[in-house]
Amino acid sequence: MKPKIWLSSPHMGEKELSYINEAFASNWIAPLGPHVDGFEHDLQTFLGGDVQVAALSSGTAALHLALILLGVGAGDEVICQSMTFAASANPIVYQGALPVFVDSEESTWNMSPDYLEQAIQHRIKLGKKPKAIIVVHLYGMPAQIDRIMEIARFYGIPVVEDAAEALGSSFKGQPLGTFGDIGVLSFNGNKIITTSGGGALVSANGDFIRQARFLATQALDPAPHYQHSQIGYNYRMSNVCAAIGRGQMEVLHQRIRQRRNNFLFYKDALSTISEIQLAEEPSPDYYSNHWLTTILVAESHVTREDLRTALVADNIDCRPLWKPMHLQPVYAGAPYYGGTTSEQLFANGLCLPSGSNLTEADLDRVVGQLVNVYQRQLIQTTLVKN
Ligand SMILES: *Cc1c(COP(=O)(O)O)cnc(C)c1O
Repeated sequence: MKPKIWLSSPHMGEKELSYINEAFASNWIAPLGPHVDGFEHDLQTFLGGDVQVAALSSGTAALHLALILLGVGAGDEVICQSMTFAASANPIVYQGALPVFVDSEESTWNMSPDYLEQAIQHRIKLGKKPKAIIVVHLYGMPAQIDRIMEIARFYGIPVVEDAAEALGSSFKGQPLGTFGDIGVLSFNGNKIITTSGGGALVSANGDFIRQARFLATQALDPAPHYQHSQIGYNYRMSNVCAAIGRGQMEVLHQRIRQRRNNFLFYKDALSTISEIQLAEEPSPDYYSNHWLTTILVAESHVTREDLRTALVADNIDCRPLWKPMHLQPVYAGAPYYGGTTSEQLFANGLCLPSGSNLTEADLDRVVGQLVNVYQRQLIQTTLVKN
């Protein structure tokens, strides 16, 4: 068996261990501590300084706190991009609220502004104005965030920007995660940088950040005894995880370059196969970190499943695109606005190995398998004809 090629595996730089050693030497293992402050500061600087950052235990925790801060409660409705990872939508249900799913558009594969507006108008007509909108930048590709913010502002609905996959991406030069009322980042093991597990809540509103830190540390009122006037959570990042994060921040620019280079490699190497279309930035306004390189397989003798199984047979990790939430058994019956765009993407799309630690030989092996499938198919059809 050839060695495994992973979809997106952790990629440490040179400094993570020395930051961890510092945490051990000072016995600042947990909770919080100076590396958490340092990591928050590094992120804030990276995002341009107009926002503040609260480091948390996961991106999912950040999404949950975001909804709490926006006042989402039992019986409320929250609009969410349908095509995404379940963690974007699940916190809506944690709050006892109802998710309303919206389809993607074809240029970025993210939330369709047209269907978003249709959903808002229809929910208002039914008697309930949505309490928040969750938009996602899938695979690092910026959504049409200017149009989405414009619509959200027009109707006075706050936006949660799920930038879990998009640290280092930008729209018209502005970093993703800084457009919404609240932005969310993830440092899970498969993301562009990792703290082994972690997330962050981003906002220009200092009250949100203070409140997020308060709720994330069990909502402890200032008193010598344990006193609580609100329900709290244990959602803060530990000092050891933040130590890894500080090391990762030093190589973030490099990681973005490496992921973007993967994309360019695939684009060049697959250019001869007209049936394979790579997800690309629709215009220079969009800058993707290309967290994952993704392809859409046009209908021909070769299907997405042919390609996926050929890669898996060669010990190459790959995944279909996210299965839309409105097609998930757990969300059957949730309202949905849109057509079949996300459904088609799910049926014909594939994520290729995209780690920043892949070698050129790894990438060649992936491309070789894909090319093989089309060549085998060509030979078979020629044989049949003769
Ligand atoms: C990874 C991810 C999350 C969840 O982040 P965790 O840190 O794993 O909890 C949320 N949304 C999207 C789009 C993600 O890719």
